Amino acid sequence: MIDFDIPAELAALRDEIRTFVTEQIVPYETDPRLTRHGPDDELRAELVELARAAGLLTFQAPKRFGGREPSHREQAVLFEAAGWSTLGPVALNCAAPDEGNMYLLAKVANQQQVDEFLLPVIDGRQRSVFAMTEPDGAGSDPNQLATEAHFDGTDYVINGRKWLITGAQGARTWIIMARVAPNPHGADGPTLFVCDGRTAGIELERVMSTMDRNYVEGHGVVRFTDLRLPASAVLGEVGQALRYAQLRLAPARLTHCMRWLGAASRAQSIALHHARTRTAFGKPIGEHQGVSFMIADNEIALQQCRLAIWWACWALDNGAKGRHESSMVKAYVSEELFKVADRCVQILGGIGISDETPVGMIFSDMRAFRLYDGPTEVHKYAIARQVLRSP
Ligand SMILES: Cc1cc2nc3c(=O)[nH]c(=O)nc-3n(C[C@H](O)[C@H](O)[C@H](O)COP(=O)(O)OP(=O)(O)OC[C@H]3O[C@@H](n4cnc5c(N)ncnc54)[C@H](O)[C@@H]3O)c2cc1C
Repeated sequence: MIDFDIPAELAALRDEIRTFVTEQIVPYETDPRLTRHGPDDELRAELVELARAAGLLTFQAPKRFGGREPSHREQAVLFEAAGWSTLGPVALNCAAPDEGNMYLLAKVANQQQVDEFLLPVIDGRQRSVFAMTEPDGAGSDPNQLATEAHFDGTDYVINGRKWLITGAQGARTWIIMARVAPNPHGADGPTLFVCDGRTAGIELERVMSTMDRNYVEGHGVVRFTDLRLPASAVLGEVGQALRYAQLRLAPARLTHCMRWLGAASRAQSIALHHARTRTAFGKPIGEHQGVSFMIADNEIALQQCRLAIWWACWALDNGAKGRHESSMVKAYVSEELFKVADRCVQILGGIGISDETPVGMIFSDMRAFRLYDGPTEVHKYAIARQVLRSP
């Protein structure tokens, strides 16, 4: 009933991605263009060209848009390989938020929106944002959405403020969540709009300083002032934003887990090297029981996370919406991988918190992973509510 074999063709692609990341991308981890606000656009463009030359760019895209369209289970294997370096997904164009945005646009956008806003992102020439979270409105609870869109029968006029908007600086494809106010012309409610980031009325107030540093151009605070969009800017149907957000979120939560599993495995490999080669009190530190237990705990956690991800992917591949499954897996994996990264820092001693290895950076980034795409407590709240309500 359960088969964990990885088919030869998939294993070959995984190895190709892993070799590409190890040989061509890892050397960029010390590039000064990997800034406190993430990799800058110049670095990203250079990495994307390497992936394009290797024939691996946006491998996850649907076949009709030139990708390889791997199943969710196949993605689990491939994204883990991509995540070996935190810059791997950036190069391969399977990093957040673009990867989730491409997934959503491929499902919901009409032909004109595909041509203008999706294809350039798939091609790596354009970046995208998903603007939902607000300082005084939507956050853990998207029903608090405060950004408003007034429809006058021709245009939507949007006002509001967002923050933590990844990649806002320089992105061209903008997916904006706003609440269409009741109007005499038609439907209302939470709605997604897609537009060009250079449209008048979109103002980047600032890029926030954050603990993590692997999302291209960091996370922005954005104000919409009388942002005027035509009716053709509505993505899908008016009033359906939360349904579309869920469509995007279940797979996007899992791809986060996959990429960070790759990064945590890398941290473990660096910790293992240190445990084998560094000595203290007459023997390699890995031979002290306290360290060997940390190594074993990491191995167990990495494998449990992998299996959990594969299980949720199996559910999605078999037609489940995966909301409950992806919630369980995201909550579990983000907490476990954070502990793995923490133990790796500990095994490395003082250099664990330095930039001498990428482990310190993986640790800080992993801290943020426990918050985005739903903080752990919110997932637990949803899981418990579902369990309590089921007979
Ligand atoms: C690195 C990073 C990148 C991000 N990128 C984007 C982006 O591109 N676009 C975007 O729109 N947003 C983005 N976000 C925002 C992210 O989606 C939100 O941080 C997340 O939804 C939580 O909302 P909040 O920060 O407003 O926390 P709040 O809603 O203020 O919640 C704070 C805390 O309250 C607790 N809590 C809330 N609800 C419950 C509950 N039901 N039960 C128990 N405890 C609860 C949790 O501990 C939670 O951490 C990003 C966030 C981070 C950290």
